[in-house]
Amino acid sequence: MIHLLQGDITLFEGDAIVNAANSSLRGGGGVDGAIHKAAGPALLQECQEWVRHNGDLPTGKAMITKGGNLKARWVIHTVGPVWSSGTQDEDFLLSQCYINCLHLCVERNIRTVAFPNISTGVYGFPKTDAAEVAVASVRNFLSSSHTDLEVSFMCFDEENYTLYQKLL
Ligand code: ADP
Repeated sequence: MIHLLQGDITLFEGDAIVNAANSSLRGGGGVDGAIHKAAGPALLQECQEWVRHNGDLPTGKAMITKGGNLKARWVIHTVGPVWSSGTQDEDFLLSQCYINCLHLCVERNIRTVAFPNISTGVYGFPKTDAAEVAVASVRNFLSSSHTDLEVSFMCFDEENYTLYQKLL
């Protein structure tokens, strides 16, 4: 099941939210900054600990931490591709972000998860293409795996919200 929501992902009342992180998992601006601010310092600590053991999180991969002060119990961190005119496998890597997050949800028995519009802020991915990749990836995953996972797309800006409305 897929839902479309508009607003601040830090307020999502479900099992997990996805963070559009950077490879060093050090927090930053945009949705990443908002999530770290709302979750509190325990989130950064857990991320730094993970990087000490595993190194940077590669583009397209995902890892999971506790949600700290968030309403969501878990935060799934994934690193979206930086848009580079479509020459660096950006569509594939963006799709991998969604799929790897969804695999983690199934592994952890997460029933409800919200995604932000990964890579469509500072990372510059064209919003139309990103929305198409996001919706197709989630639809394919849900239709090919036996899960009752509920996925929400949490659009922050009007442009993304309208694009997703059309696609869904
Ligand atoms: P990226 O580096 O992956 O592009 P950004 O954080 O710059 O990440 O932007 C990703 C998307 O997250 C953008 O569409 C932006 O509008 C959206 N966004 C920013 N803040 C929030 C928030 N609090 N909740 C949900 N989405 C947000």
